[in-house]
Amino acid sequence: MMMLILLGPPGAGKGTQADILAANHNIKKLSTGDMLRAVASSGSELGQKVKTIIESGALVPDDIIITMIRERIKHSDCANGFILDGFPRTIGQAEALSQMLDTEGKHLSHVIELTVDASALIARISGRFSCKACGAGYHDVNKPTVKAGVCDLCGGTEFVRRADDNAETVAARLKAYDLQTAPLLPYYRERGLLRPVNGMATMDKVAQQIENILLSGI
Ligand code: AMP
Repeated sequence: MMMLILLGPPGAGKGTQADILAANHNIKKLSTGDMLRAVASSGSELGQKVKTIIESGALVPDDIIITMIRERIKHSDCANGFILDGFPRTIGQAEALSQMLDTEGKHLSHVIELTVDASALIARISGRFSCKACGAGYHDVNKPTVKAGVCDLCGGTEFVRRADDNAETVAARLKAYDLQTAPLLPYYRERGLLRPVNGMATMDKVAQQIENILLSGI
């Protein structure tokens, strides 16, 4: 059973690589960002709270995230393994995950760190958009649709941009990463799980580096 974490700042390419891994290995991608955006659009009281936090660029409290993941990984679609995209983001979340897996006698396979130049992140994030119908991800410069205004995958013609991909919120998200998430790098390095990958390479080359790690069976 393969259990992977993708770690790296916003804009590093975690979501893109998680999609590739999920398709190639038939394992489930679990994105806490996607789950929270679904909660935020539900209109519930919790949804309102989550929406405000996401739009500020801060992190949602650990207890909410941990409960969400604990329930999610029990689902039968995770039986073959999963890729965590955007979780854990704090040491508290990492500790909770470790306890969840321990009780089931399971272990993380690898923590893939996507390393990127800080100067590239703003441009990567600010060009992002996705198909409203199927969710396929694109980028104005790095990955435009083949035909302008038409989704390559489903032919959809409506696209959306994330509300938190604006300059002000992105600055707060990068700061949250540095302060709260970057400490996970030494945390997983000390546990022998961290596998750095050059995230500045092309999408295909990053995917190849990750495949090599999985094949090497470290
Ligand atoms: P993402 O799609 O991973 O960039 O996440 C978007 C936003 O959702 C983040 O800026 C946080 O506000 C929130 N979020 C996502 N995952 C987590 C997490 N594991 N812990 C706390 N907040 C999170």
